[in-house]
Amino acid sequence: MLKSKRLKLMTVLIIAFGLLLTGCGEKALVHETLEEVPTEVKTEEETTTEEAKIEEATPEATATDVASSDDAEVAEDEGSEDEDDNVQQSANGKIVVLDPGHSSVVSGNTEPIGPGSGEYKAADSSGTSGSTSGLTEYQLNLQIAQKLRTELQNRGYTVYLTREDNSTGISCAERAQMANNLNADAFIRIHADGSDSSSASGAMGICITPSNPYISSMYSESRRLSDAVLNAYVAETGFSSRGVWETDTMTGNNWSQVPCTLLEMGFMTNPNEDSLMADEAFQSKMVTGIANGVDTYFFTD
Ligand SMILES: [Zn+2]
Repeated sequence: MLKSKRLKLMTVLIIAFGLLLTGCGEKALVHETLEEVPTEVKTEEETTTEEAKIEEATPEATATDVASSDDAEVAEDEGSEDEDDNVQQSANGKIVVLDPGHSSVVSGNTEPIGPGSGEYKAADSSGTSGSTSGLTEYQLNLQIAQKLRTELQNRGYTVYLTREDNSTGISCAERAQMANNLNADAFIRIHADGSDSSSASGAMGICITPSNPYISSMYSESRRLSDAVLNAYVAETGFSSRGVWETDTMTGNNWSQVPCTLLEMGFMTNPNEDSLMADEAFQSKMVTGIANGVDTYFFTD
């Protein structure tokens, strides 16, 4: 009788302790950065239920998860599957920041194209949209980034997203600064292309040039990352490669102090590529391709 009471009390204590630990996880870390960004009230958004569910099911890894094995033990006691996943997430020690491009909230502000630059560019833009799928680019980008996070976590990476929903406004420089602050090993920007011509097709990587005025020291690693991701992506999807475009006009790339690539996954204005990219099974291929490229960049090249 007494023994079972004591056992009950211990269980309650362990659970309470566990809740305390998980309660102050990385959400605070990521959202702290985002809090400074003005957000607006959610619009219609298909995201409210569906994406909230995904978010719940796949919490990002936390600094505490990486640092403390005690936390992991408490999590084991709780029997929480999510926590078990987190234990695996830090397995290979690499941090990847994924940046789903654009958002439904577009700031009207401008920002310097690179640190210290007098040249200003729009802080963000609304992106393109699907000619047949009806998806906006920011919706597609987020879908892929969230699936890619799960895939990369399963492969041992610690993964962060620059935005978790479609109603968070964040500028290109702010996206890069998140990757800088998290000391990412790779910063991967997820985008899709648009064109006036419905026949334009194929995937492309975007990378800084060797003479980038802001962060040229990142060129060789960013180029290697761009090649690895693009090549593995087209191998898996069968999309044609438009190669890696080297340019110093991309604000998010210029502000990144860590290896950075921007992947244009395909054309949403091309009916064939648009319907494929919106397809559940095809999205798995896209995600596998990008993850293969990340593995190549870190462990094969
Ligand atoms: Zn875009």
